[in-house]
This record gives sequence, C-alpha cells and structure tokens, in this order.
Amino acid sequence: MALEAIQGIGRAIGLSRDPIQAVATVVSSIRHELRVDVCSIYLYRRREQSLWLVASEGLRPEVIGKLTLRAGEGLVGLVAERLEPVNTDDAPSHPAFRFFPESGEALYHAFLGLPIIYLGELLGVLVVQQRERRRFSDEDLAFLTTLAIQIAGPLHHAKISGAINRSLSHREASSDFLPGIAAAQGVAVGTIRVIRRETSLDLPVVTNTDDPVAESRRFRRAVTATRRELRAAAERAARFLPEEELALFEVHQLLLSGDGLVRDTQQRIRSGMTAAAAWVQTLREHLAVFEAMEDPYLRTRAEDLRDLGHRVMRHLQEGAGSETAEYPPNCILAAEEIGLPELTRVPQRRLAAILCNQGSELSHAALLARTLGIPAVMGLKDLPLDAIDGASAVVDGYEGRVCINPSPAVRHEFRRLLRDERALDRELKGLREEPAVTPDGYRLRLLVNAGLLTDLQPVRRAGAEGIGLYRTEFPFMRRDAFPTEEEQYRTYRKVLRAVGPQPVTMRTLDIGGDKPLPYFRLEEENPQLGLRGIRLTLAQPEILITQLRALLRADCGLGNLRLCFPMVTSLAELDSGIGHLRQVLSELRDEGHAVEMPPLGIMIEVPSMLFLLPECLDRVDFICIGTNDLTQYLLAVDRDNPGVAPLFDELNPAVLRALKQLVDTARRRRVPVTVCGEMAADPEGAVLLTAMGVDSLSVNAALVPRLKWLVRNISRRRMRRLLERVIECEDPGEIRQATRQLLQRAG
Ligand code: PEP
Ligand code: MG
Repeated sequence: MALEAIQGIGRAIGLSRDPIQAVATVVSSIRHELRVDVCSIYLYRRREQSLWLVASEGLRPEVIGKLTLRAGEGLVGLVAERLEPVNTDDAPSHPAFRFFPESGEALYHAFLGLPIIYLGELLGVLVVQQRERRRFSDEDLAFLTTLAIQIAGPLHHAKISGAINRSLSHREASSDFLPGIAAAQGVAVGTIRVIRRETSLDLPVVTNTDDPVAESRRFRRAVTATRRELRAAAERAARFLPEEELALFEVHQLLLSGDGLVRDTQQRIRSGMTAAAAWVQTLREHLAVFEAMEDPYLRTRAEDLRDLGHRVMRHLQEGAGSETAEYPPNCILAAEEIGLPELTRVPQRRLAAILCNQGSELSHAALLARTLGIPAVMGLKDLPLDAIDGASAVVDGYEGRVCINPSPAVRHEFRRLLRDERALDRELKGLREEPAVTPDGYRLRLLVNAGLLTDLQPVRRAGAEGIGLYRTEFPFMRRDAFPTEEEQYRTYRKVLRAVGPQPVTMRTLDIGGDKPLPYFRLEEENPQLGLRGIRLTLAQPEILITQLRALLRADCGLGNLRLCFPMVTSLAELDSGIGHLRQVLSELRDEGHAVEMPPLGIMIEVPSMLFLLPECLDRVDFICIGTNDLTQYLLAVDRDNPGVAPLFDELNPAVLRALKQLVDTARRRRVPVTVCGEMAADPEGAVLLTAMGVDSLSVNAALVPRLKWLVRNISRRRMRRLLERVIECEDPGEIRQATRQLLQRAG
C-alpha cells in the first residue's frame, strides 16, 4: 500500500471526534488492502494485565468491547508478552493457540499479530487473520509494522482521554496515567476545564497593505488593549498574591514595553506590511532567539513571548470579544500553554491544578502554581484537549502525571493522599525557621537557584539560607545589546539587597553554545563543545570586566556576594579569570569605590576538573558542582535531547563515583561544596550528596521545605551506610531502588 494510504489512516484516527469510528476505519482499510478475512485491534490494559478487543472487521460485531484476554493468553497474548510479531500459517496447531468460541476464531488458520508500541510501552496488538493456510509475507509484516507505528500516537490519545471507554459504552474507568513533567508538587482531584486559543501565530494570508497609517493605528490600539488586559490580570492577581509575587506579571509588560517588539513591528508596517503580518514576523524573529537557547530557563521564556503574541493577535482580529468561561469547583485547567492572565480568571478557591501539553517546571504558570501551592504537570505533550473538557481527573504533581476519568479506586487513593498532604503541609510550615540538620547533627545548608528578580521572595518563605546559584544570563537576553555596567549594577544590587545578609552566589555570564544572545551570534558546528561559559567571556574580556565591575560595586557595603565562574575547563582559564577580578578590584579602588574581594568559586561542570581539582582548590574559596553539565559531559548525553533522556542519569555509577571523588578531595582540603544541578533537587540525589558530605544543596525554592524534612528525618549515618553500598553498584536501577527504599522507610 502507498505511504499516502498509511498516512491517511493515521490522520483519520487522529482527526476523528469518535475514536472508535476511526479505529474501525483503520481495521476496515487494512482488511481491504491486504485482502484478509479479519483485522482486529486489541488494547492493552496494564492494571488488569489484559487485552481488550476494541475494533474488528471479521469477528462477530457483538464481541467488540466485550472480549477480553489475559496478557499471555492465546496468540494475541503471546504477541503482547513477547513484544514481537507472531506469524503462523496454522494458528490452531500453534502451542499457544487458545480457542474463543464467542469470536468464531477456529475458522481462521493464517495469523499475523504484532504489538502496537507507544514510547516504549505496549499499547495494544494488531491482528490479521485468514481462513486459508498461508504465511503472511515480509511485505505484509513491514506494511503492518509501519501502520502500527503510525496509529500508536492517536490510539494512545483515544485511550488516555477515556474516549474509547465512552465510545464502547464501557463504564469501566481508567487507571492509566499520562506522564508529564512534575512542575509543582501536590495532588488534586477535580474536573477539567480546557482553555483554548482562538488565534494563530502563522503568517496571515494577506501580508501587504496600502494603508500603513491605518494598520499602524490598529497595531497601537491592539497593544494598548493588551496592556489594559495585562494590568487587569495583575489587579486580579493582587487580590490573592503577596505583593512581591506580582513582579511575575511584569514580564509581559516588560516584553511589550521594551523597544524591540513594538518598534520592529511598526517598522515592518511602515514598509507596507499589515499589522498582523508584521507582528507575527517580528514575534517569530524574537521567538527563534529564545527557542534556540540552551539554558532551559531562558528557553522557557519563549512561552511568555508566544502568549503575548496570541494576546496582541486577538486584539488585532476584528471583533475580539472578552474571554469568559465558567469554572467548576476543583477546577483543573488544561491547555497547550497557559498564560498568567488566564490563571487569574479562575476564582482562587476553585483552582485545583494546572495541566499543560507544553512547558516545564520553569514556565511561569508552574511558578505561579508553586506559589499558590497547587500541583502542575507540564510538558504532557499528549493530553487530548479536544476530548477532555468536563472530564474528571486526578493530578499527581509529585510524579508529574495525570489520570483522566479515574477509576473509583484511583480516585479514592488520591482523596486519601490529598488529606495526608494537607497534614504534611501543616508540619512543613512549622519547619521554616528550623535548620536543616540530620537527627545525628550533620548541618546542611539549603539554598535556592534563581535568575530573575521574581525568584527572590520565595527564598525566605521557603526557609532557605540564601541563593546558591544566581544565573546572571537573563538580564542579558531580554535586550538587543549588552546591558551597561550601570544597568547590571542596579539588577545585582537589588538581588543582593533583597536576600542579604544571606549569601548570594552570582555566576558570571554563562552564554554561548546553544544559548546565544540575539546580538552576539556564534556559528558553530558543535556548540556544546564550542565557545561557552568562561571560555567565551575570556575571549571577549570586556564583557567579563564590565560584569565584574558591576558585581563588585553592587556588593559595596553589603558583603553577601560570592562570585563563581562557569564551565571552567583548565587552570589557565581560572587564572585568567582571577587576573581580571584582581585588576577590576584594584581599578575600582583607585576610582574610590569601597569594594571588597568576594569569596570566589568555580562551577565544576566539566570532567577535566576531576583531575585538576587539587590545583583549583589552591585558588578558590568554594566550589559549586553543576551536575546537569557534569552528567552531560561525563556520559556524553545531551541534557536536553529527549531521545537520549533515559541515559541522562545522575545516579549512574560513573557520575556518583566522580562526585564522591570531587567531594572527598574538597573535604580533605576543607573547601566547601555546593551542589546546584537538578540532582540536588531529587530526593534520592539529595540523600546521596548529603551522605558524601556536601555543605549545601541549591534547588528550586519550592523544594526546600521537603528537602529540609528529609534531612531532619534521616540520620547521616544511615545515608552513609547506603552510599557505601551503592557506590559499589554497577546498575543505576539498583542504586535508585536502594535509595528509594531508604526514603520509604523514613516515611
Ligand atoms: C549545571 O550545569 O548543573 C548548572 C547548575 O548550570 P546550568 O544548568 O545553568 O548549566
Ligand atoms: Mg551548567
């Protein structure tokens, strides 16, 4: 069959509002194309370990939706068990054959069954059967394999959405969970409300105008209306958010008031483009810069830009009405992406959780969810928004997963979790002022990773003891030229003041690689190994010098700055960095500034540091281990490539042993160690790092209370015993399991 036909079948199932109808079309087309007597699809149900006949042409229609086989039972079960095709010319004589009289199976001899797999997991089995004895050809197998891959995604949607259950009037609810990114902790049980965007950011059909003056006016009006809308959202938010958090709502305003977007659009309009086309094109240009960034935090800011894009577009479209919607109690908002203004529309008492197909824990919606203390699961990708408005759901913000139309047992379990959770929250609040000390007296410092002014307030509220990593990149990205010394000074000063007297570790600019600045582009074949981090700022020392001047001046009279160089790979780089720092210090003193030399550290992110650490320790006051990059470079696994994501594992024995070696060396020399990569935020990672003897962990503010609870409830002796055992392990799975057991025993 032509590729086109295969794609057509895939599309039919994807587009259909009635998934069962679509699946029926698939089996019917296959039966026709291959000229077989029977084509059937069985869906795998993990909890029951069974295969459920959801579509068939050839078997009796009355068994569709009724016939269920145990996995492992019969030839269909064998396919599911082995995850391999079974191709036989005489099914009844196959040892695994099982007779199901209700389906009329005995009539068929030739049998070809193959697994339908979605993201590595069994989703179902596709079967063709024929009365006569014949072996299906390799071409048949190749065709069906292609088709099974093609229909897996849409079939998965249909299954997860509960649409198949509904279509077959099957009252049984689901216990399957759709996985996403755990972006805000907590659990929720509620009703889904889907938020849709009516606008598109595709280039409009008509792009030129004869009347630039009118278009320019239209654009100005749209911008004004958007500003008004954003202000209204901020006002709504002010009713339930503390004042400090409202800065979150300034991001859009800032994007809109910065010179870039509006000015570039106006310029395009003047050159003859319609307002909509000019806006889309300008937006795309800016989006491309953000989307290409390696730093996940900065890349996520593309969301804000897209959200703003849709808002302005809505006002550019004639007759854009106001957005109104009804929100059920325990409302679970679901969308591709959710903007902050949408979140403020839901009465706060009703908002129970947030689900997004895009985004990550760095999205502003996730940030707000953490502030509000409700769960958020982002990056779900496959949430079938068309089919789930009004459906009931449970959300697990700890594991990052959602179950649509949950079974009574799942719902009951989540209600219980919700009660436990409320009790735990009360306990955690009481820990805020308490230190992070293990029961046997090991004192750990819990710090926060930040990169925006808006990240500062949660530091205190979370009960953290400072900022362990301030990523200075953001102020550099939001602009179209390097920020001046004065601008940088103001930003850093605000941060140091807000957090002081607690310490703030500010990392010098870590750009380059996949994280280019719009106004400083590098064309490189292999950017991960190219000009990045301190390598780049040493190559352009004026950038480093300006930043160091701003940082040292910002610290005047405060004294809580700690300075850190990123991506150091050699002693020569470190020495050059220190050389610049000394020179800046002396020049500033000559100019009359009362600057002090701050404690100096380096990020340990490159494997070369494993061998150069002793010499580095002669030169620095502390080290920060960046486990994200260290893992990436040790294991040669791109930290942002989902295709190799399962290989990116900080509990890999190679990573653990490297970390232990680094921490042992630093401890022998009494140089403090902070860990500020994602590993510190993972409870299993945190336990092993504490066992090694790190001094502080720097994590997302929302995680601080729970890590504190962890530290205060497991003795370091137990953690060390665990470490001694797992450091010998060869298998990351074994390490994780042993660590998890300890956590479970600790409650
Ligand atoms: C790291 O690499 O672990 C780290 C903290 O730095 P970043 O994530 O900003 O690269
Ligand atoms: Mg890094």
